[in-house]
Amino acid sequence: MAEVTLESPVTVLKGIGPKKAKLLERLDVHTVGDLLHLYPRSYIDYTSPIKIRDIVAQEVCAVRAKVLNKLTPRLIRSGLVLYKAIIADGTGEITVTIFNSSYQFDRLRVGKTYTFHGKVTGSLTGLEMASPSFIPDGDPCKLIPVYPLTEGLYQSVLQELIRGLLDTFCGRIPETLPPGLLQAQGLCGLEYALDNIHYPADAQALEAARKRLAFEELLMLQLGLLQLKKSNRSRTACPMKDVPLDAFYASLPFALTDAQRRVIGECTGSMQGDYPMNRLVQGEVGSGKTVVAAAICCFAVRNGYQCALMAPTEILAAQHFKTLTQFLSPVGIRVCLLTGALTPAKKRQLREQIASGAYDVVVGTHALVQKDTQFQRLGLVITDEQHRFGVAQRTTLAEKGENPHLMVMSATPIPRSLALILYGDLDISVIDQLPQGRQPIETYKIGPDKLQRAYGFIRRHLDEGRQGYIVCPVIDESESELVSVGTYREELAKGPFEGYTTGLLHGRLSGAEKEAVMGDFAAGRIQLLVATTVIEVGVDVPNAVIMLVRNAERFGLSQLHQLRGRIGRGQYQSTCILETASKSPETLRRLRTMCRTTSGYDIAMEDLCQRGPGDFFGSRQHGLPPLRIAGMDALGDLSELGILQSCAARILDDDPQLESPYNAQLKKNVDRMFRSSGTI
Ligand code: ADP
Ligand code: MG
Repeated sequence: MAEVTLESPVTVLKGIGPKKAKLLERLDVHTVGDLLHLYPRSYIDYTSPIKIRDIVAQEVCAVRAKVLNKLTPRLIRSGLVLYKAIIADGTGEITVTIFNSSYQFDRLRVGKTYTFHGKVTGSLTGLEMASPSFIPDGDPCKLIPVYPLTEGLYQSVLQELIRGLLDTFCGRIPETLPPGLLQAQGLCGLEYALDNIHYPADAQALEAARKRLAFEELLMLQLGLLQLKKSNRSRTACPMKDVPLDAFYASLPFALTDAQRRVIGECTGSMQGDYPMNRLVQGEVGSGKTVVAAAICCFAVRNGYQCALMAPTEILAAQHFKTLTQFLSPVGIRVCLLTGALTPAKKRQLREQIASGAYDVVVGTHALVQKDTQFQRLGLVITDEQHRFGVAQRTTLAEKGENPHLMVMSATPIPRSLALILYGDLDISVIDQLPQGRQPIETYKIGPDKLQRAYGFIRRHLDEGRQGYIVCPVIDESESELVSVGTYREELAKGPFEGYTTGLLHGRLSGAEKEAVMGDFAAGRIQLLVATTVIEVGVDVPNAVIMLVRNAERFGLSQLHQLRGRIGRGQYQSTCILETASKSPETLRRLRTMCRTTSGYDIAMEDLCQRGPGDFFGSRQHGLPPLRIAGMDALGDLSELGILQSCAARILDDDPQLESPYNAQLKKNVDRMFRSSGTI
């Protein structure tokens, strides 16, 4: 056999043929090195067995017990053999059941003691642990890795494979972090980390391993994003000069907040620089990001450029079109909407007009604007609700045409240190103030028994000329216990809301249908909108003042916050009612948070605490390269992120291209992280 290196394809390993290699590819494992970086999803924990007496049915646990007796295997039906053994620990006995595996069953010896791990179920004949994992007494490995699997790949195969690799490469795994950094940050070496992420010596070693691997991964992420930021620094092809926006300001129906003015200044300042702007504008739901977008569009247009505004959904695009037209047409700026609902001929015509410069501002979904649309002089691209798409798309856009200025708007306020990591390639502005006169939304939690009262409360608001939303989580009949939103709307229209106009909005409607419904709602032709979460982002109807969320337990905190952000957008007092039958402590805690605060920042922090920041980093919603060990759970608190940032900055200060030999491994890994995810 040829010498196995970390770069070798997995097929050099014994037992891995083309078929298994294909399965491993699905786990993003191509090389032997990748396999070492396939981290366990969890561990079978044999470290703290409980007494049989203390077992709680339906829970997973470990027990240390002696095999009293092995029963005769029974053929249940062709191809299914049931093996049973009785085990006891002095506080009680339970049955252990193994399906079909004589190999496993033979491993058990009567009179010997093992630690068993598995889910215990209650049966008529007593408690039973089905298909447990077990280790004999005296086995030093008490935390056994559980790997992510894909169909056709077995846990035991991966376990043995990786265990073998750790032995093979013992003493030969090159360190990837620069010398000095490990010591300065108190991190363990890579080989120790890999050994202990797979087969932890103990809980402490596992923590050290996770911390080191998380640190390295986030450091690579940060280095990659910072380099991306620099590489975007070819001189701008859209130089702009200071032009007055007074006429625009004068035409607005309201005075801008100080925060809005400051952020507009930060944007127009960047756009007058030598390099293209790459700026994230964060602002609480309702802080008025759209008018900021309009202002900088006006600035770009006055400088002779076209602008594109892209939204994640057709509904939002349609709405932005309406708002931008309202803000910009009084000052003579021509806005158009490129939507999926147009006929091909109309689309072609519109695209020709855009290419000839007949429109100044083009609004549409990402797909529509990015694909096949040529501009005459594109100078500014704005994207809304940035968390829906990623770094990759941003980069393709920047490459399109003339390397335009880029502004992304996000309604997910997160701590600055976190934002600096997630958006390391962007400058950041924050609209940290709400327009005056907003009344805080009142939020209540109710049980299903109070629904009729809630309907009455909603009717009273509709009678006063206001509008409302009822939000439900699903639209599929097959999710039996929840009524589909369509049926529910009919029930409401025939029952509690007879005589009121109701509308229905869900994800299965076509773009044109959605637009029509939203149009009717915005125009007040629909009083009560029954909807799924398609209304979550950005919809702005200031006359809508009441929202009832059914099955609120089904929504995460930030989702509830986004939903609630649809009301409280005008001068009226607004109310949000969260209905749930759930008694789960986590749900109740989430809903209590919603009732207590309307600050997106507080809610984001609470979300971070409840879900764990790892979840935050792990999710693909930020459009970042996928992270294998999701960051901060392992790192500790937010202050660690600051340390990480300064490390990254220092590394790049000393060695901007990561060319030094001691950064070679790091550079290779950064490139791989960003390349393999298609991010660059
Ligand atoms: P978001 O930041 O959530 O996107 P929008 O841009 O949709 O917020 O603005 C929310 C509402 O507030 C809109 O109806 C908008 O016209 C209004 N608005 C924005 N800025 C101001 C302001 N300075 N004073 C009063 N109302 C404002
Ligand atoms: Mg918005």
